[in-house]
Amino acid sequence: MRSRIVYGPILSRRLGRSLGIDIIKNTNSKKNCNYDCIYCQLGHVELKIRSPEDVREAVTPEEVSKSLQKVISNVEGLDYITFSGTCEPTLNLSLGEMIRNIRKISEIPICVITNSSLLGREDVQNNLAEADLVVATLVSGNEETCRKIHRPAPGINLKEIIEGLRKLAKAGIGKRLALEVMLLENEAGEPLNFTDEEIEELVKTIRYICPDEIEILTVSRPPSEKWVRPVPEEKLKEVAKHFISEFGEETVKLVLKGKKKKVKVLRTNVDEEVYALLLRRPCTFKQTCQSLNIDPKNLSSVLEKLLGEGKIEIISSEVEKYYRAK
Ligand code: SF4
Repeated sequence: MRSRIVYGPILSRRLGRSLGIDIIKNTNSKKNCNYDCIYCQLGHVELKIRSPEDVREAVTPEEVSKSLQKVISNVEGLDYITFSGTCEPTLNLSLGEMIRNIRKISEIPICVITNSSLLGREDVQNNLAEADLVVATLVSGNEETCRKIHRPAPGINLKEIIEGLRKLAKAGIGKRLALEVMLLENEAGEPLNFTDEEIEELVKTIRYICPDEIEILTVSRPPSEKWVRPVPEEKLKEVAKHFISEFGEETVKLVLKGKKKKVKVLRTNVDEEVYALLLRRPCTFKQTCQSLNIDPKNLSSVLEKLLGEGKIEIISSEVEKYYRAK
């Protein structure tokens, strides 16, 4: 099944309802990234892309505009157009041009979700500065912890990332930089990145970066490593409380549940839409229904068909069953 550049809409805990854009073509890999995070919802992949110069199948700005134009008039009630998907969007150096082109055809705010890895590069900083919102990952202020969690491609270092994030925050006249602080623990319930020392270091680092917003969250889908566990809500609230005391209520956001908003979608090819969503984001039955606004009866037959064809699989978290593209 072909991979769509534009997918969704997806229902996200942070952005409400957004249309996703994936700007590296799906090659033989199910994710196109320079990290291999222990919490990745797309599973474990050994072959990491080392830099933008190594990307062989980057989507072009023309392809993005064309794909978006086809879809956008069929979807109402969107909060964002979001660059994300199976790839790290900053690996495509045409990102800035794509954003400028989208502004010519839509007034919907544009968000880029980035793992922050390439923030040390000036070209990447300039591309990100075009977006209305940049949601950038920062799991720790400590290089070693970051390495253990992200398992990055060679040549990526935290110091450069922090400097890049700071520059981006400063450049943002009217723009917003949100730092996504993903908290994790192991199966014994021990913190992987939020011991007292880690929190102290993180607060110092965030103070230096000076973002517009800090989002505290934990994993919500089955992570690539089975020994990684989501942090219980009570503990998350405790950490968020500490961050609020440091940065204020206006800046800190505890991300627990998604907004549920109905959206009208005119269907084109339901099988393809469901597959395109599950390729980028494993979803439960209910989440798939809500995201794409599909009747549960219709979705059952689509999922059965895709399972029968071996295009998707079922994975389970501790509490729920998710569907994911193979
Ligand atoms: S979680 Fe995001 S940054 Fe990490 S490996 Fe997966 S796709 Fe890449």
